[in-house]
Amino acid sequence: MPTFQDLEKQLTKLEPGGRSRPSGCVSRHRVAIIIPYRNRDNQLRSLLHNLHPMLMRQQLDYGVYVVDEALPSRFNRAMLMNIGYAEAIKLYDYQCFIFHDVDLIPQDDRLIYNCSTQPRHMSAAIDKFNYELPYKTLFGGVSALTRKQFVAVNGFSNIYFGWGGEDDDMFVRIKAKGYNVTRYPMHIARYRMLKHKPDTGNEPNPMRSANLRHAKERAEYDGLSTLKYKVLHLELKALYTWVHVEINETQIMQVRRTPP
Ligand code: UDP
Ligand code: MN
Repeated sequence: MPTFQDLEKQLTKLEPGGRSRPSGCVSRHRVAIIIPYRNRDNQLRSLLHNLHPMLMRQQLDYGVYVVDEALPSRFNRAMLMNIGYAEAIKLYDYQCFIFHDVDLIPQDDRLIYNCSTQPRHMSAAIDKFNYELPYKTLFGGVSALTRKQFVAVNGFSNIYFGWGGEDDDMFVRIKAKGYNVTRYPMHIARYRMLKHKPDTGNEPNPMRSANLRHAKERAEYDGLSTLKYKVLHLELKALYTWVHVEINETQIMQVRRTPP
């Protein structure tokens, strides 16, 4: 496993903040890779080691954003992805957003990291699930939305603290706005899932099913439009842009969660 230093030596063509664009042509795709993150150093190294060379081969104009949630708040994957979106568009005119779990390694170069006319679920075939789609409405792992699509659905919900539900909530939002989820063919959408020890602060959320019941209505008043957070530190590192953020669970949960 390469260290961050090894990686920096290998990936000399990167611009600060984990940015790259093809030389000699203008890419059609300006893509921000948004990684919700806390305390998974080894996995981040492994992902960057695989992802950067692949994205360069795909001739994308891209940047990698690691949105790192400070302790002690419970982990909120969806909100970190909203924050990654909000911070990335301040830095560059991105048109496509790939929301990317840190533990999923793409295995096929034909798995192009761009966006389509419909939101795309990328990680359809994962080794852990025998490269089969566990259920048809799955939208977790890695997904791709244009800026327009993401704004239309009001981003992800902010109220899913702990593990589970936020990806299914997004599926509901997407359908509610008249979009359909697309996928690449199963022999292309292949990922390897890295193993990890149980995390603290990301225990299954007992509210996840209850929250899902109102997912459609809540999309109107919970999401990008009500996003609140504090950036503790933003740094253009060699391999990625590090966004260290503080989330206040009490403050977030004051927003309305059920329809009137
Ligand atoms: N994650 C993280 N640190 C944590 C918990 C989660 O970085 O303590 C991020 C990471 O990107 C991970 C994603 O959230 O891939 C989803 O969490 P997890 O892999 O535990 O969920 P599962 O794949 O089991 O649904
Ligand atoms: Mn995982």
